Amino acid sequence: MSGKIHLVGAGLAGSLLSLFLARRGFEVEIFERRVDMRRESISAGRSINLALAHRGIVALRAVGIYPQIERLTIPMKGRLLHDLQGNLNFQRYGKIDSEVIYSISRGALNAALLSAAEATGKVTIQFKQRCTHVDLKRKIATFQSENRSETEVNYDQLIGTDGSASAVRDSLVKQAGIQFSEDVLDHGYKELTIPPDDFSKGFRMDKNALHIWPRGEYMLIALPNLDSSFTATLFLPHKDGFDRLTTPPAVRGFFQNEFPDSLPMIPYLEEEFLSRPTGMLTTVRCSPWSHEDQVLLLGDAAHAIVPFHGQGMNCAFEDCLSLDAQLEKSNGDWRTAFQSFEKDRMRNANAIADLALENYVEMRDTVRDPKFHLKKHLEWSLEERHGERFIPRYSMIMFHSIPYADVKERGEIQTEILNRLTANADTLEQVDLDAAGKLVQERLKLF
Ligand SMILES: Cc1cc2nc3c(=O)[nH]c(=O)nc-3n(C[C@H](O)[C@H](O)[C@H](O)COP(=O)(O)OP(=O)(O)OC[C@H]3O[C@@H](n4cnc5c(N)ncnc54)[C@H](O)[C@@H]3O)c2cc1C
Repeated sequence: MSGKIHLVGAGLAGSLLSLFLARRGFEVEIFERRVDMRRESISAGRSINLALAHRGIVALRAVGIYPQIERLTIPMKGRLLHDLQGNLNFQRYGKIDSEVIYSISRGALNAALLSAAEATGKVTIQFKQRCTHVDLKRKIATFQSENRSETEVNYDQLIGTDGSASAVRDSLVKQAGIQFSEDVLDHGYKELTIPPDDFSKGFRMDKNALHIWPRGEYMLIALPNLDSSFTATLFLPHKDGFDRLTTPPAVRGFFQNEFPDSLPMIPYLEEEFLSRPTGMLTTVRCSPWSHEDQVLLLGDAAHAIVPFHGQGMNCAFEDCLSLDAQLEKSNGDWRTAFQSFEKDRMRNANAIADLALENYVEMRDTVRDPKFHLKKHLEWSLEERHGERFIPRYSMIMFHSIPYADVKERGEIQTEILNRLTANADTLEQVDLDAAGKLVQERLKLF
């Protein structure tokens, strides 16, 4: 295949997508609003590190870049819960040892993808070029540089990988009448640093776990970084939460009461808390995602979700895989490829958006419930006995490529089964596993 494709946004989705397109023989030119993060130091922006899981890895493997990326990851085998007294409770993620997720630095991952894209010789990236407008009729995208000078670029195909506040999407909304909604969660987030230990220079906590301080209405989490630090993130309501933490004593007092064991590990708590922005969490949905055979939205630009399943990037990477498959099938017919991509991905993006919202309650609250542990063990037991039909919902999302929409549907049935089986049981021994087997066979179709 040949021709030139223009992308807006060289973030995670744009840089990976350019690798897929280059592999197909296209020339790719990407316009990115920010500076080149490999040459100038910039903050990683939102979420300094991310959880990379199976779906993302499959896409990275497909372009042959995973061995290089794997070196940047730290496996996390499960959740390590911190209670108010500082007691720890480890809950593994999967039944088998390979079922882990990986912490990775957003900046390092993005930089590696950019370099790999440029190394193909087919991808050029124009930094400090902010897309301000796309004229759908004239097929011209306008970019503004730092000194406000404007460049107009003619395109045949333009793909908006410019994230949740997409300028490409804005133009589609205004000129092509696409439907768009943005739901802002009434909780936000703040990132804090747990540096390496002063003396040993090593990690201050178990590095192979995702740490959670679940407190019902809110939570603190921490993911490990390669430099032996952790990035901690507080998720909290804006009202009667962040709006009350506006002075150093208020911040310290809150952490002292709610997350006392974290306090000695966050030396710059007040300074960081009061100087860093409070992030917003939004769910973006729009439809359609394309305009004729010319413009497409992909990644967060099409479907930003809240981060509680750690799937936004993984889903965006799966998008790249899907578009690549549709290009193969459509043999270069862009309109067909765009439409089939949308058909494949939209229902799945909607499903993971819902699942991610649900998982916030699980992470901040349900994980503390003894019934939750019983259900986890029952899930693994059912998976062991009936693996062809029953896979825990968390595992289907994190360790499989089962379409998210199917996961949602199956997950609802599985939840009903688990609730029914554990209604009168406190331990696994009290669960009638034969009855459970019958229920699974009856209610769940074969994969
Ligand atoms: C707190 C938090 C934690 C998260 N944790 C996880 C996680 O653990 N696992 C996971 O899978 N996902 C996670 N996510 C989601 C993940 O960050 C996103 O889904 C992912 O970044 C989407 O990639 P993208 O390329 O579509 O968008 P982005 O990464 O936002 O990239 C968009 C790019 O476009 C550029 N751009 C924007 N506007 C313009 C413009 N007008 N002109 C030119 N360029 C432009 C931006 O500078 C950026 O480089 C998290 C998100 C948040 C907020």
